[in-house]
Amino acid sequence: MNSESESCPVCKSYATVTVSHDPVKIFVQCPVCGRFEYYPMTVDIEEFNLNHLASYFVYNGFKDNILKKTEYKYFTTMSKEMCDEYRAEYNKGNTVNGHPVHLSADNVENWYPKRLSDKIDLILTYLHSRSNYIGETIKLEKETVIGCLFLIRYKQDRYGHNQSYTDELEKQASYMYEYLTESKLIKPENSWTGGFWGRPIQLTPEAYSRIDKIEKDKTHGKDVLVAMQFGDKTKRLREAIRQGITDAEYNPVFIDEVEHNDFITPELLKYIRDSKFVVVDLSHQNNGAYFEEGYAMGLGKPVIQLCKKEVRLHFDIAQKNTIIWEDEEEVPFRLRNRIIATIE
Ligand SMILES: [Zn+2]
Repeated sequence: MNSESESCPVCKSYATVTVSHDPVKIFVQCPVCGRFEYYPMTVDIEEFNLNHLASYFVYNGFKDNILKKTEYKYFTTMSKEMCDEYRAEYNKGNTVNGHPVHLSADNVENWYPKRLSDKIDLILTYLHSRSNYIGETIKLEKETVIGCLFLIRYKQDRYGHNQSYTDELEKQASYMYEYLTESKLIKPENSWTGGFWGRPIQLTPEAYSRIDKIEKDKTHGKDVLVAMQFGDKTKRLREAIRQGITDAEYNPVFIDEVEHNDFITPELLKYIRDSKFVVVDLSHQNNGAYFEEGYAMGLGKPVIQLCKKEVRLHFDIAQKNTIIWEDEEEVPFRLRNRIIATIE
């Protein structure tokens, strides 16, 4: 293995790029994009829309952070199956391969905001997350600004290769700053030191009220987290639960299917917080499901419990009203009715 410092293939920041030859893979530690790995032999980073990927990393990347340092999470283009395998080892205490999170062009495109208003929402939430206190004036590094403001720095040539497109970057950034200023979301700034990219940014009260609204909308959404045992054995049950929730006109969220395809605890907690209610199946005596149910109850979220007949429930929750099912077939109808009866 040899390690060298060079430019990040996505954002061009000064980064640590490690090349290993067996198998050929490239590991990047970038201050802007965080940790990620790719295999040039099978998936070239160029297969991604690099503009979108750069923004994706700014918003979702695994950067070093005192609190998260021990997680060893990184994005990788290796197969989802390999990720699952390494993660299972990781959870058993073998940290050699770290904690990989599957990265695919589909994940990136599904996440990438299509509407301007969605981009603005993300920008405001990001700026807020970078501030230590309400009203703080912050400065972002140039490469972070580019990803954060969804600027276009690559254009594809006629061979489909990403070519740098840097001459318009300042214009694009100026326009976004003007847009945010004229929409009264950031404070106007006429002059500052430190060059174009060192513009100080301060959110306005309007921005904070929009951020509040974004947070509230999330909780009034239609998402419903489902806690259960995942795997081949529970496929029928999973589809039955999906059907029941969909029939009640809610949107089931199975944590292993969303965004990172990874069981990330902070992420999971966020989904529970954003869910209107939570559906928990306790048939498999799964500790995770008990924990998720407890967390949801602590937040005052309604919980709808399911359990297969003849499974003994943990004492604390045994008295709760539970849908006891014998066959998966009956789950969709009963779950739908229970949701309609208990959730306003
Ligand atoms: Zn980078």
